[in-house]
Amino acid sequence: MQQAPTQLPDVDAVPDIELLVREDKLQLLFKQSFPAMFISLATAALLCWMLQGHTSDMELLGWLAALVISTLGRLAVFATFFRTAPRGIQLLKLERRYNITLLISSTIWGVGALLVMPADELVYQAITVCILVGMAGGAASMYSARYKMAIGAMLTTLLPSTIWLFTQDSKEQFGLAVGASLFLIVMLRAAKVLADALQRNFQLSRELHSAHAAADLQAKTDPLTGINNRRAFLDQGEQIIRYCERHELELAVLVMDLDHFKSVNDTLGHLAGDTVLHHIGETMRKLFRRSDICGRTGGEEFAVILPHTSAESAIAIAEKLRRVIAETPIACGERTVAVTASIGLAAGTYDLTSLLVHADKAMYRAKEQGRNQVVRYME
Ligand code: GH3
Ligand code: MG
Ligand code: MG
Repeated sequence: MQQAPTQLPDVDAVPDIELLVREDKLQLLFKQSFPAMFISLATAALLCWMLQGHTSDMELLGWLAALVISTLGRLAVFATFFRTAPRGIQLLKLERRYNITLLISSTIWGVGALLVMPADELVYQAITVCILVGMAGGAASMYSARYKMAIGAMLTTLLPSTIWLFTQDSKEQFGLAVGASLFLIVMLRAAKVLADALQRNFQLSRELHSAHAAADLQAKTDPLTGINNRRAFLDQGEQIIRYCERHELELAVLVMDLDHFKSVNDTLGHLAGDTVLHHIGETMRKLFRRSDICGRTGGEEFAVILPHTSAESAIAIAEKLRRVIAETPIACGERTVAVTASIGLAAGTYDLTSLLVHADKAMYRAKEQGRNQVVRYME
């Protein structure tokens, strides 16, 4: 079923940019690192193939089996991500599982590679270190959206073999360890630069989006009352009326004008008058449903479109609005002021201009009949 269009602008909604940026980075991380799981397994298989005959088959198979099991754990996390498309707090919960499974996988990689590396064959140690350096480099770019994860993956992959090589006697092994360490330092820095750039990029784009949304809201909102201004009211009203027409739903329109408002300004001052208008806006925001369209259409004139509402129900709603306004004194500095409103109501057509003209006529009849009342337009 088609969604009913629009409602009162939510002037209090402030997006949590930090959380949104974190979400963006996680979304990127999940999408970016999915193929890495399979490439990591394929690389381990390639290394095992090269080491075959130099390391026992049992050790190689054991390492591969451990990697397959940890990859299955990671696959489960990715499956949850792709199946449920989580957002907000759900996505952040999944982040923890992602971190843990990634760390387990990279530790199996780092420690396992050290265990399967032939302790007495330099050329195979060099091959293993080259592959580990490649894996750490991949981690630097793959996980840089979350810098701590990138560091964790790089260190757990490369450090075990590097430390072991440092403890050996030959100068070639020492050279390999120094080379791996230098590479690690360069990649840690590169990952940091990349992570900072990504953070800035996401932050800017979210701030831009939020500023655009705020400007859009501001352009549609009457600053004094916090409800739609006249233009936004007419735009949204037209949309909701087309919706009602298509689905053959009843609707009603209210036009409300505050009674003797000039005398509020004259006796208490213009500022007090503004306070009253602000209060009326708040009352309307509280009283009407989010699917109703409220607007300040003139100085002390308001209008409301009530979709999917019969004229009888609309009279009851208008009566409630009138009563709440009349019975709630408004504090203006030291003084309080009581205001009343005259409300006209129209229904029976899907033409907004006619509805507003009819409701306006009914509102003037309410004024003529003594104000502080609701009158329904009758032909
Ligand atoms: P009636 O019951 O016939 O409607 O009497 P009224 O005094 O409300 O009608 P009138 O149209 O003569 O006066 C409307 C007043 O609303 C005049 C104007 O100064 C005041 N007004 C319009 N916009 C604002 C505003 O933004 N702030 C304030 N404080 N007053 C406003
Ligand atoms: Mg008026
Ligand atoms: Mg008035």
